Amino acid sequence: MNRGSVFLAWRHWVSRGAAARTVPRHPQFCLENHVNHPLLQVSGLRKSYGPAEVLKGISFDLQKGETLSLIGPSGSGKSTCLRCLNFLEKPQAGEVLLESKRIGQLPDRKGGWRFMTDTELAPQRREIGMVFQLFYLWPHLTVRENVALASIKAAGMRRDEAHALAEEMLDKVHLRHKADAYPEQLSGGQQQRVAIARTLAQKPKLILFDEPTSALDPELVGEVLGVIRELAEEGRSMILVTHEIRFARDVADRVIFMDGGHIVEEGPAAQVIDQPRRERTRSFLGQVGA
Ligand code: ADP
Ligand code: MG
Repeated sequence: MNRGSVFLAWRHWVSRGAAARTVPRHPQFCLENHVNHPLLQVSGLRKSYGPAEVLKGISFDLQKGETLSLIGPSGSGKSTCLRCLNFLEKPQAGEVLLESKRIGQLPDRKGGWRFMTDTELAPQRREIGMVFQLFYLWPHLTVRENVALASIKAAGMRRDEAHALAEEMLDKVHLRHKADAYPEQLSGGQQQRVAIARTLAQKPKLILFDEPTSALDPELVGEVLGVIRELAEEGRSMILVTHEIRFARDVADRVIFMDGGHIVEEGPAAQVIDQPRRERTRSFLGQVGA
């Protein structure tokens, strides 16, 4: 390239930048919308408990609106991985970016990174909702109060607004009619749907589900999966750890198969589950009867 063409290329680059800066920030014209930044970027996550390395360098992305399912044998590190994403666990290495911003850590004075304190983490934790195997509802509060509690205590919302939001979210899990009931009056499946409504009330950018149906009697699994399916169809961004392989096949956009702290295989749900490339994935799917 001679000097003239370098200058032309530079002028083209500068004028494109200037154009991007002067164009109104209407969604159609917003430059960022043309650059497909993932919602979540996870790179090189490592986590050990004592000498046992449980995550051995986990990296993946999640696009906005995508449902990703994490599958794998018990002990492969799926829960640890989810817990590292919202810093319930502190990974020894790696980084997590939400909307291109590093979360869970802040620059320290020595040019490195330090973990945030729980107070610093609190606003970020609201951006990443989590639904666990056990629902942890307050037994002395009604369903409505359970769903509204975090909006009042953590987000400082007025009680009447928080209750209205709670009812809206209960509607999404088809339990508005149970707003005045207490958790013990509900089935396990209904309690888990309340826990999902509670997470939705945080208005999270991303929802992590850790085996949300594993503690339920088989006849109650379907109603919870039904709600998760509706959320996926709504275009929520979700990561779902599940043993319900057929459900993952139907509802997830992508599947990651983990084993021994590694990602063994990753791809479109139908491909990983119906035509796995790795022998290890095939044998796992065979064992679980998928
Ligand atoms: P999965 O969710 O895939 O079943 P986990 O992430 O729960 O796997 O666990 C991965 C490994 O890490 C297991 O061997 C487990 O015993 C170990 N582990 C998980 N949490 C802890 C902990 N808090 N302390 C020590 N070991 C742990
Ligand atoms: Mg687990």
